[in-house]
Amino acid sequence: MLNFNKSVCDLNRVGKSTTKQLEKIGIKTAEDLLFHYPFRYDDYRKVISVAELKTKRSGTIKVKISLISTHRSPKKRMSITEAVVSDQSDSLKVIWFNQPFLTKLLKSGQEIYLAGKIETDDYYGLQLVNPSHELCQNRDQIHTGRLIPIYPTTNRLSQKQLRFLIHQILSSAQDINDWLPRDIRTDHNLISLGFALRQIHFPENKDWLEKAVHRLKFDELFLIQLKNYLVRQKIKTQPAALIEFKLEQTQEFVKNLPFKLIDAQRKASWEIINDLGKGSPMNRLLEGDVGSGKTVVAVIAILNVLLNNYQVAYMAPTEILAEQHFKNISNLLSKYRFKVALLTRSSAKTNKNENCKKSEIVKNLFSRKIDLVVGTHALIQEKIKFKNLGLAIVDEQHRFGVEQRAKIMQLSPENNLSPHFLSLSATPIPRSVALTLYGDLDLSIIDQLPLGRKKIITKIVGSKEKKEVYNFIRAEIKNGRQAFIICPLIDPSDKLGVKSVKEEYKKISEEIFPEFKIGLLHGRLKTNEKEKIMFDFSSLNNQSPNKNKIDILISTTVVEVGIDIPNASIMIIEGAERFGLAQLYQLRGRIGRDQYQSHCFLFFEETAGVSSEKTKKRLEALLSAKNGFELAEKDLELRGPGELFGTGQSGFLADLKIAKLSDLEIIKQAQQTIRKFFSQINNLDNYPLLKKKIGETITTTHFE
Ligand code: ADP
Ligand code: MG
Repeated sequence: MLNFNKSVCDLNRVGKSTTKQLEKIGIKTAEDLLFHYPFRYDDYRKVISVAELKTKRSGTIKVKISLISTHRSPKKRMSITEAVVSDQSDSLKVIWFNQPFLTKLLKSGQEIYLAGKIETDDYYGLQLVNPSHELCQNRDQIHTGRLIPIYPTTNRLSQKQLRFLIHQILSSAQDINDWLPRDIRTDHNLISLGFALRQIHFPENKDWLEKAVHRLKFDELFLIQLKNYLVRQKIKTQPAALIEFKLEQTQEFVKNLPFKLIDAQRKASWEIINDLGKGSPMNRLLEGDVGSGKTVVAVIAILNVLLNNYQVAYMAPTEILAEQHFKNISNLLSKYRFKVALLTRSSAKTNKNENCKKSEIVKNLFSRKIDLVVGTHALIQEKIKFKNLGLAIVDEQHRFGVEQRAKIMQLSPENNLSPHFLSLSATPIPRSVALTLYGDLDLSIIDQLPLGRKKIITKIVGSKEKKEVYNFIRAEIKNGRQAFIICPLIDPSDKLGVKSVKEEYKKISEEIFPEFKIGLLHGRLKTNEKEKIMFDFSSLNNQSPNKNKIDILISTTVVEVGIDIPNASIMIIEGAERFGLAQLYQLRGRIGRDQYQSHCFLFFEETAGVSSEKTKKRLEALLSAKNGFELAEKDLELRGPGELFGTGQSGFLADLKIAKLSDLEIIKQAQQTIRKFFSQINNLDNYPLLKKKIGETITTTHFE
C-alpha cells in the first residue's frame, strides 16, 4: 500500500528539478498529488479517423507512424520533431517542439494514439501540433482516447508529467482508507474515497466524474464544518471571565458621547453585555455597514471588561487602522485611568508616554501593567501573552475562522479562562458563508446608519463622461471638500499596485488637477510615510476652503477598510470593473461619513465585447442594492467566493479546493449530517480515521 506521506522525490521519475516544480504548486507528498485536482478535462474519448480530425480540428486518432525525425531549428534554437502518420482514411503531418526524446520512444512503423489540436501552417498546411501520444499496446490509456485531466501547473512541469505521476499513485488509491463513516456515505449516496479520486483524475465517464466531484466537495465542506463544530463545542465548555455589567459607568460613558446612540447600536451593545455576563465565552459577530458605528459598540464592551479588571486586545487589519483606532479609543476612554498601548510591526506607544519599546509593551502585557492593546492581526501570531485577557476584538477580518479563535484561547495561558471574542465586520457575510466558516456564531446586526447621513450618489462613468466628472470635482474641492482616487491592481506582477497609482498620480497632478495638492498612498511605503500622508489628508481646516493639506489622495486599496475622514466626500474608483461588488461597497464607505452630500464615480473601462456589458450590469447592482447583504449574495453568485473579499483576503478558501461556498445544498447536507452524527455519539473515538483527518487540520489540543 502506498505511503501517503511519502515525499514526491521518492516517486518514480521524479528528480530534483521536478521536485522543485511540484513544490511550486504546493505539492510535497504523494497525498498532495492525489488531491491536486484537474480544473478541466479535454474530451478525447472518441477515436476518430484522420480525415475526420482534419475537419473537426481536435480529437484522438489511432495511426501508424511512417516517418519520424528530430532536427534543430537554426534560428530559434529549439528542437523540432516531425512525423508523418496515417490511417486508412488519410495521412497527416505532426510536429512537436522541444521534445527530442520522442525520436527515441516512437519509431516508424509503430501504432500510436495521438490526441490534440490541428493548426494551419502557412507553408505546410494542416498539422497536428504538440499532441499527447500513447502507444497502442497501453491497456490503461491516460493521455489519449479519454477525458483528459488538465491540471493547474507551472511552465516547467508538463500536463503529461503530472498525469503520469498521479496515475502512478492512483494505482494504489483503491485501498485508500475512507475516513467518512459508512453510514454517512450510504445516507448521502456517496462513492468511496479511493474510487472518487480515481474518477476525478481519470474519469470513465461524465456520470462518474459528477459523482466524484460531489463526494470530494462533500468531504471538504463536511470536514471544515466538523472542525468548526468541535472547536465550538470545546469553547462552549470553557469557563470565561464573568464580566459584571457596570450600569452607571456605562450610562455615564454613553451620555458623554458627542452623539446619541441609535437603537441598533443600543441593541447590539446589550446583546454583547449579556454574553459577557454568562461565564462562558462569547462568540459574536457584529455586522454593520461601513460607517454604521461599530467602534463605539465595541468600546462599550471594552469599558465593561476593563472595569472588571480584565485586559482587552483589539486587532485591526492594517497598521494605519490600528493607529486610528488607538487614537480613537484612547480618546473615548481618556476620562479613565486605563493604560492603552499601540503595538504594530513598526510602532509601539502608550497613551501615557508617547513612544516606548516594543519589548516593554510585551512585558507589560504579561505583567498586567497595560489594560488595552491595539494592534494588527499579527498580535495573535506573535508570541504575546497576557496576564488575564478578558476580551479579544477583531476588526474587519473575514478570514477569522475557528483556528484563529482557538489561538485566542491560548493568549492568556495563566488564568485558565477563555477570552470572550467579538468580531466586527462591514462585509456583509452571506449566511451560507458564515455557516461554513464560523459554525453557529451569534450575530448582532446594526442595520441603520447614524442619523443625518446622506445617501451617497453613485454613478457609473464611461470614458466620454470623465471630463465632466473632473469638472464637478474641481468645484467641490474649491468648496473645501477632498477626494479619493482608488486604483486597481493592473497586472499581477504589480502586487501592491505601485505602478498603477504612480501612473495615475502623474496623470492627475500634471494633466488634470495641476492646481491641487495631490497625495499618494500605496502598500510599498514605509509605515511612517503612510501615516504622514494619512495624517496630512485628515488634518485640515473644515471651515476655510482650500486649507486642506492634501486635496486628492490617490491610493490603492490600502484605504479599504475603516479609515475615517469625514471631510472627504468624493471618490473615483478607477477600473471599477476589476473590483468585487462587496469590495466596491466597502471602498465607497470611506466617504459619506459626514453631513456633506457625497459622490462616488465608478470609472469603467469599456473594453469591447459581451464581457463589458456583463461587467456593467454587475456594477449596476451596486446602484440598486438596498444593503451590503444583498450585494454580497450577488457577488457570490456572479464572481464566486474567491472574489467576495477581494484578493489577499480569501486565505480561508485554501481549505476548499473543489467545493465552493456557493454549493449551498452540500453545505446544508454536511451540516445536517454533523447534527445527526453527534446526536448519536459524543466523540470521534470510534472513528479513528476521521479523528485523524480532523487532527491533521487542527491541533488536537484545541478540542480534546
Ligand atoms: P464602522 O462601523 O464602519 O466601524 P465607525 O465606528 O468608524 O464605523 O463610525 C463611523 C463614524 O460615525 C465615526 O466618526 C463615529 O464617531 C460616528 N458615529 C458612530 N455612532 C454614531 C451615532 N449614533 N450618531 C452619529 N455619529 C456616529
Ligand atoms: Mg470600523
